[in-house]
Amino acid sequence: MTEKCLFCRIVAGEIPAEIVYQDKELIAFKDINPQAPKHLIIIPKKHIASLAELTEDQQGLMGRLIILATKLAQKEGVAENGYRLTVNCGVEGGQVVPHLHFHLIGGRRLSGRLG
Ligand code: 5GP
Ligand code: ZN
Repeated sequence: MTEKCLFCRIVAGEIPAEIVYQDKELIAFKDINPQAPKHLIIIPKKHIASLAELTEDQQGLMGRLIILATKLAQKEGVAENGYRLTVNCGVEGGQVVPHLHFHLIGGRRLSGRLG
């Protein structure tokens, strides 16, 4: 837990969020400003600032997060028609919250533009 980190504070229950899933190491909640009908944020509970901070020993954690994303896509009803799973990394990558997070976005035909 990093005290001033917004997503660490959601993990700690200090800031409310619409949590759709959690286990010992992962949590998923609805984005406060959804970009599509379905927009979840999926994060490791442990504070990792960005993709750039990942270490070799976190391969399993990242694999489990991606598998969880596919399950949540099914649960949210977007798996059949398709969805996007993205990570913004760093300032030029568009990352605003400095706690590694995956966006699961779907529920409408998304633009092909990524940048
Ligand atoms: P980034 O731009 O860092 O990749 O994405 C940060 C995401 O976090 C944005 O989509 C933004 O809407 C979302 N967000 C920011 N503050 C909050 C919050 O307090 N609660 C929730 N649920 N989402 C947030
Ligand atoms: Zn954090």
